[in-house]
Amino acid sequence: SGISGGAAAASQRLTVLSGPSGVGKSTVVREIRRKHPEVWLSVSVTTRSPRPGETDGVEYFFVDDTEFDRLVAAGELLEWAEFAGNRYGTPRGPVESRLRAGHPVLLEIDLQGARQVRETMPDALLVFLAPPSWEELVRRLTGRGTEPPEVVQRRLDTARVELAAEKEFDLTLVNTSVRDVCDELLALIVAPTV
Ligand code: 5GP
Repeated sequence: SGISGGAAAASQRLTVLSGPSGVGKSTVVREIRRKHPEVWLSVSVTTRSPRPGETDGVEYFFVDDTEFDRLVAAGELLEWAEFAGNRYGTPRGPVESRLRAGHPVLLEIDLQGARQVRETMPDALLVFLAPPSWEELVRRLTGRGTEPPEVVQRRLDTARVELAAEKEFDLTLVNTSVRDVCDELLALIVAPTV
């Protein structure tokens, strides 16, 4: 056809931001949304309830269990995972049509979701967001100081396991400054494919 690239080139424009819980993924994405509205972000579906300040269709599409089941059964999710008692998933259609049109796509998803994308879209760029240090992550996870010690301990055990996932990723960004991470991420998203 004379047109090179096609699916492979397009799918290289899929960037996945993941990392341990508490590392600040959603803060980074909020900052990108605020300062770079030109960057298209996939909006996930979730069964969790909206938090104050969240708007249906902006941070998430908020759905009930029945609707989530339907989306899974219909194959309409690119990946999905259960996290802290709720389900989260990436709607397939919008992502695929953006990629087909040659536009970059950014997903912010948990580690289980990142592993699924690795399997189904091997050309995706997987970016691990790491805390500046273990001590800093502990500080963030224990921050509010309102949870019972066994809850905090469980969270820290999980975080330790999650940090080990770094080696499965293509590259790591250290979340020392939200602004720096945003800039680095933006450079990756729009970088010409190799
Ligand atoms: P939160 O409830 O704090 O907004 O998100 C909880 C976790 O779910 C975060 O680690 C976030 O990255 C992850 N998450 C959000 N959307 C998706 C998604 O579509 N798929 C997967 N696998 N994880 C998601």
